[in-house]
This record gives sequence, C-alpha cells and structure tokens, in this order.
Amino acid sequence: MTEELMHFVDGVRVKGTSGRFGDVFNPATGEVTKRAPLASADEVRKAIASSAAALPGWAATPPAKRAQVMFNFRDLLHKHMDELAELVSQEHGKTLDDAKGSVTRGLEVVEFACGIPHLLKGDYSASVAGGVDSFNTRQPVGVCAGITPFNFPAMVPMWMFPMALACGNTFILKPSERDPSCGVRLAELMFEAGLPEGCLNVINGDKEAVDTLLTDPGVGAISFVGSTAIGRYIYETGAAHGKRVQALCGAKNHMIIMPDADIDQAVDATIGAAYGSAGERCMAVSVAVAVGDEAADAFVKQLAPRVQSLKVGPYTDASAEMGPVITRESKERIERYIGEGLADGAELVVDGRGISLQGYENGYFVGGTLFDRVTTEMSIYKDEIFGPVLVVVRAESYDEAKQMVIDHEYGNGAAIFTRDGDTARNFTQDVNIGMVGVNVPIPVPVAYHSFGGWKASLFGDHSIHGMEGVRFYTKLKTVTARWPSGIKEGAVFNFHSGSDTGH
Ligand code: NAD
Repeated sequence: MTEELMHFVDGVRVKGTSGRFGDVFNPATGEVTKRAPLASADEVRKAIASSAAALPGWAATPPAKRAQVMFNFRDLLHKHMDELAELVSQEHGKTLDDAKGSVTRGLEVVEFACGIPHLLKGDYSASVAGGVDSFNTRQPVGVCAGITPFNFPAMVPMWMFPMALACGNTFILKPSERDPSCGVRLAELMFEAGLPEGCLNVINGDKEAVDTLLTDPGVGAISFVGSTAIGRYIYETGAAHGKRVQALCGAKNHMIIMPDADIDQAVDATIGAAYGSAGERCMAVSVAVAVGDEAADAFVKQLAPRVQSLKVGPYTDASAEMGPVITRESKERIERYIGEGLADGAELVVDGRGISLQGYENGYFVGGTLFDRVTTEMSIYKDEIFGPVLVVVRAESYDEAKQMVIDHEYGNGAAIFTRDGDTARNFTQDVNIGMVGVNVPIPVPVAYHSFGGWKASLFGDHSIHGMEGVRFYTKLKTVTARWPSGIKEGAVFNFHSGSDTGH
C-alpha cells in the first residue's frame, strides 16, 4: 500500500487537495513507496497567509526566547537522529552513516542559531556629532521560503529555516518532491520544541508551488539550493518580483594534485570525496587534475583498484559504501555521460555501468567510475554529472592546472594537494572559487562560517548559514538619534561639512 504524504500548515499535517501527486521511490528497488501531494497555487497561498499571520508575534518574540526554541529543537534532533537518518536513507538511498553525517551537519547550524541574541547585536557609535548617537539593528525580512534539492533532504532545509526563524522570520519550506518526508518531520519537531503554529509551514510540490512562492508579494526572501538551470530561473524570477534571493547551484569541483603531494593521502581523500553519497554532493570532487605524468600515473594506479572494489548496495546492507542514485533518469544520464566520455576518447579505467545486484535488479545502482586522460573540451569535464564518476585530467604545470579551475563555468569548491606553502597560498589567493581546500578534499565550511560558491554556482549576494545567513535573513536599519537636551543653541541642521550633524 502506497503511503500518502501530506503538507504541514498551521502546526498540523494537512492533506493535499490539488489532486496531483508525485511518486516517491525506493531507489534501491525501483518501487514506488509513497506519493507526495503536489500543491496548487491556492494551497501555497494559504500557507503564505498562515506564515504572514504568524509573523508579527514571532518577530516580536525576544531573540533569547527564539533561541530557547532552537535549544529544544537541538535536543529533539539528537533524540530523533536515527529516525531522521533512516528517512533520508529510505528515500534518497545513501548509506545510514552518510545520512547521519548529513543530519549532524544540519544540527550544527541549529547550534549556531542558538546564539542568535549575540549574532543580532548591532553596532553603536556615541557622539557621531554633537549630541547625536548612531546605532544599527537587524530586523526580520518577513515571510521567507526555501526550495531544496533531493541530495540532502534534512541538511539543506536546516541550512535555511533555523537561521531564518532565529532571525525572527516565518518560513515556508518546499522540499524536493523526490524525498519529501524529512521536511514535514523536521517541522513537527520544531513545533514540539515550542515554535508557534504558522511559523514554519511545509508545502510539497513542483513548479506550480515554486512559481507561486516566487511571484506572491507576501514572500520577502527566497533561498534555493539545486541545479544551475533552475537556480538561474529562481534568481531572475524572484528578483523581478522584488524579492531577496540566494540561489546555490551546481558544481564541478577540481582537486589539483601537485608532484610533491602525499599520493596516499590524496587517494584516501578522493575515495570519500568523489564517491561518497554516490557522487550526489554539490561539494563532491569530480575532477582530479594531476600535475606531471609521474603524479598522474601514481594517483591513477593507486586509485583504480580502490574504485573497482567500492561496495555498492542498499542502505540496509551495513557493508555498502555507496547507495543507488536517486532516479532511473539519473542512472541513465550518468551512464550516457560515461558513453560520451568513451566516444570522446577518454580512457575508461573503471566502468561502473551495467551493475545488477541480486534482489535489487531494478535499483538505480551505478558503480564507481574512473576516467583518465580527459581533456577540457569533453562533456564529462565540462558538465556536472552528479554521480560516482571521477575524471582525471593531466596538466604539465601548476599554472595550467590553476587556469583550468579559473576557466571552468562553476565555482563552488576546489582543493589543492601539496606540501608546498607558497603554491598553496598562491592557489587560495588566485582561484575564483567560493570554498577552497588545502589538503582537504571537500572544504565544506562549518556552520559558523558560510557556505557558497562563485560563478555559476551561486546567484545572489549571500552565501548560506554563518554570518551570511544572518545578513540574508535580516534587513539592516541604522538609527541616528539626537535628543533635544543634546542640541546646542544655534546648532546647524543641514549637511554642511563641519556642521554638528557631522556630514
Ligand atoms: P533541481 O534543480 O532539479 O531541484 C531543486 C528544487 O527545485 C526542487 O525542490 C524542485 O522541486 C525545484 N524545481 C525543479 N524544477 C523546477 C522548475 N522547472 N521550476 C521551479 N522549481 C523547480 O535539483 P536536484 O536535482 O534536486 O538537486 C541536485 C542539484 O543541486 C545539483 O546540481 C547539485 O549540485 C545542486 N546542489 C547544490 C548545492 C549547493 O550548495 N551549491 C547543494 C546541494 C545540491
């Protein structure tokens, strides 16, 4: 029997009324396990109205009280960690360890949000002019919305709503329709933690729901995480409707291996960074640029048997290192890219196509895949494949390798493996990339720093969580105050320089 999922509005689960549904699959078996309601514009507008009604009360709640709700939520996340990880694995397919790791990364943002009274503290300048003081304050934007991708169904929503709520906004989450269950479950836990009803609503849906959030005047800010084509559309449409938008998008993360790098360490790092979560991470390493044939030969020689022996399986198999990819279309797309790489003349060192697991013949499994001698005009180099495929490009010099990073369309993450401090420093200074690693393959910033790329990996002005999260979810107000007792006789009230307004 297929379970029918619901939306979550005004503190309760509500049935979808549009009559449209999206199937949710178990990617390990290919079976439909649940169906998610796809909201109509009308249903979304009801959620916006609910969030708007809850806004004044929540915005006026002292930050320390809002923080208390976050502390309670943090405790509940610990208590429900196994349940949430299982939900992630069931619908996404990733291993339980990986799923737990992702919930933990979301939880760390909640911990950061617990410090909101401190984070919202403004600056104060006494006597900017005679008897005049100036201070600033950060106020909530209003009703905010989050549109999230399939690959981190718990973590990415938690990059958004804890920060938005802590800052005094109300929030509407539109989770990925591929693995929607975590969204509603997290919202329920927020209410158990003490969040008033209407402050966090969850609407399941597709383009119709998203378009309503993008165009409705009741929504003040949109956070999006997903693919570049959709992110560009979200940014342009949201901005055209007067909204603040941050859209975090696709990636092609390069890892440069210098001739002096510790190859053992680089190979170890690559296994997790390229193949963990079946490569379905926006910070996955998908290109290794080896400088010099000696480094390239050693790297490929050591890596190949490790990739070949990666164990693929369902999350219920505790020994599996990699789960299936999310959909049949994804599997087909990845396998098509592997075919293109071969046709373009790249050397296929490990081929992950055509995997069939006993008892899981209809699952969307792709094995670890490794290409060598890839060149920059090939589609397997240029495009985000979003699967367990690593391409090795050989460069003759550091400058050539660095230029590849600079010239690539995407700018999410990049890493360099070297023992040389000068080279590492030059790399970190020169590349046009948002998150850079030195001997760290996936340089994902911790919650109190901010996450975000450059170039086609982010549209908008703000990265996510950390202080950038506070800036995105608040509007800055600066007050300049003079009290009558501070006004000297004969004070000048214009803006001439030297006047006592100081400007
Ligand atoms: P996606 O762009 O297909 O979907 C993301 C969201 O957009 C979903 O909620 C979906 O319902 C919605 N959407 C899809 N099509 C739409 C349309 N035509 N109009 C309006 N809304 C639409 O992305 P995905 O496949 O779920 O996720 C994978 C992508 O996300 C990859 O490109 C990956 O790199 C990226 N990603 C980026 C980051 C980052 O921080 N930069 C993090 C995670 C994932």
